[in-house]
Amino acid sequence: MSREGMSKDPPAIERILFTEEQIAQRIHEVAAEIDERYRGKPLKLVGVLKGSVFFLTALARQIQIPVKIDFLAISTFSNKSSAPGIVRIAKDLDEPIENEDVLLVEDIVDTGLTLRYLLQALSSRGPNSLAVCTFLDRNSRRLVQIPVEFRCFEIPDRFVIGFGLDHNQLYRNLSYVAVMKPDKNA
Ligand code: 5GP
Repeated sequence: MSREGMSKDPPAIERILFTEEQIAQRIHEVAAEIDERYRGKPLKLVGVLKGSVFFLTALARQIQIPVKIDFLAISTFSNKSSAPGIVRIAKDLDEPIENEDVLLVEDIVDTGLTLRYLLQALSSRGPNSLAVCTFLDRNSRRLVQIPVEFRCFEIPDRFVIGFGLDHNQLYRNLSYVAVMKPDKNA
């Protein structure tokens, strides 16, 4: 089968929010802001698996200053026996972050509960600085206020997929960000 016949477009898509070109342009701009802010300081990008991987690698390629990269993974618990928004580190960083300038790279900040937990956990390890860069920001659903220094796009209150964001682990490899059809969200 030709590659044209193997479209990745899933039927669950309602509309495309950000195209591959728009994403590339915005990441280029945010990378320039990061270069400006951290000039003269080696920067450590900390990605949250798995959603931020696509954004982090695209961002890192556009950043001109020297960067180190590390990852952590989290698990969230929101069943009846535990309060919503309980987060645990399932895979920790490989290296310490003491005295380092750390930029936590997220795919999306929604309620802010995940980020609040991660900021508390990482700040206790003595970094020189700790800031947040998110690909998407859904400020309208924020439950806890947390500082977000760099963001690519503000998005509406709809479930989105693509460019790292999944639905049941699918669609992360879409090169664009799309809103899912409502009946597929359940
Ligand atoms: P928060 O703790 O800020 O509420 O949630 C952050 C996490 O929720 C994200 O890292 C992501 O895994 C998930 N999430 C929130 N909104 C969306 C969305 O629209 N699409 C996808 N795929 N994941 C989302």
